[in-house]
Amino acid sequence: MAVTTATTKIDPILTTGAEDLTGPLTETVQIASHLIWDAVAANLPRDLHWQFVLVTLVIALSIWLIRDGHGSRDADGRERKAHLLQFLLPKDIYTHVSARVDIWLWVTERILRPLWVVGLLATVGPSTESAVIDFLQWTLGATPAIAVNYWWMLLYSLVTLLSYDFVFFLIHYTMHRMPALWALHKVHHSAEVLTPLTRYREHFLVGPIWAAGGAFSYGLAGGLFAWLFNGGIVAATLFNIGFFALVFGFNGSFRHYHVQFNYPRSLSLWLHSPAMHHVHHSYLQQHWNKNFAAVTSIWDRLFGTLYVPAKDEYTPWGIGPNTQSEYRTYWQNTVGPFRDWYKMLRGGKSPQAGAAKNVD
Ligand SMILES: [Zn+2]
Ligand SMILES: [Zn+2]
Repeated sequence: MAVTTATTKIDPILTTGAEDLTGPLTETVQIASHLIWDAVAANLPRDLHWQFVLVTLVIALSIWLIRDGHGSRDADGRERKAHLLQFLLPKDIYTHVSARVDIWLWVTERILRPLWVVGLLATVGPSTESAVIDFLQWTLGATPAIAVNYWWMLLYSLVTLLSYDFVFFLIHYTMHRMPALWALHKVHHSAEVLTPLTRYREHFLVGPIWAAGGAFSYGLAGGLFAWLFNGGIVAATLFNIGFFALVFGFNGSFRHYHVQFNYPRSLSLWLHSPAMHHVHHSYLQQHWNKNFAAVTSIWDRLFGTLYVPAKDEYTPWGIGPNTQSEYRTYWQNTVGPFRDWYKMLRGGKSPQAGAAKNVD
């Protein structure tokens, strides 16, 4: 009798309170998962935001339809016919050790970024801008204070894009040519498969270099246009997104996607197609030190480094069979540059881009 009473007393508590009642462990896990999710959402690379992913998938689907399943590459960089899922999300690429290393290198860079980003971006951009304004005032006099209209805003976007593209080209070119910098940039090239996250695959010491370069290039264009328009100009936008961000964001993610997206040759002479960056990542000798720019083909043409690939041209990715095993894991990619510098200091040489020899 006593047991029955106790049961009837407890039952209501169990039935009404059970859904809301959570133990301390569950609560901690919930809080932690919210924190982790918020941190991931806040730090998700722009290219992985759903709009960019959607555009990438729609274009890839179109290529799959138009080319009847052809046009994507396998983990060896060779074109193959694939069914839709394998075409969009190939298992051999997304389970590859290289794709995993992409993630951890990106996490490392994000964790370390607060150490340099504030000071660097706050100083390089504005000081470049004011130096350009001072220089123009000194050489050409006071601002002509041109009235702003939409066409000028478009021109400002275009000049910003070209300025960024040129500075990107110069930094990238230098990274391939100077052994001490190649030791760092090699981490980007040690990717054996391409995924949209490969775009961010860099040694953590390279992040500040790209960020400073970007801020410098914006400062150049910003200073020029601030002087021309007496400070009253902003970049043109489409659906509230800067044209520049739109073009660059799309281009950046697709060129590290394994699906070949070729432009007609006449367009490739002006704009970098994503397939042209597949060439940049190839370790075949004829592909070394080609296609350095981010968006346009202008600078590569001027400097003689443009390479427009043939349809389905074989582009095996990575740094080549001779040295790939030294730059495969997360740890190897993190300490590799320091080891290379040490070797260089002792008189040895850093293996150059696409160090593979005797590769067919
Ligand atoms: Zn490169
Ligand atoms: Zn790349």
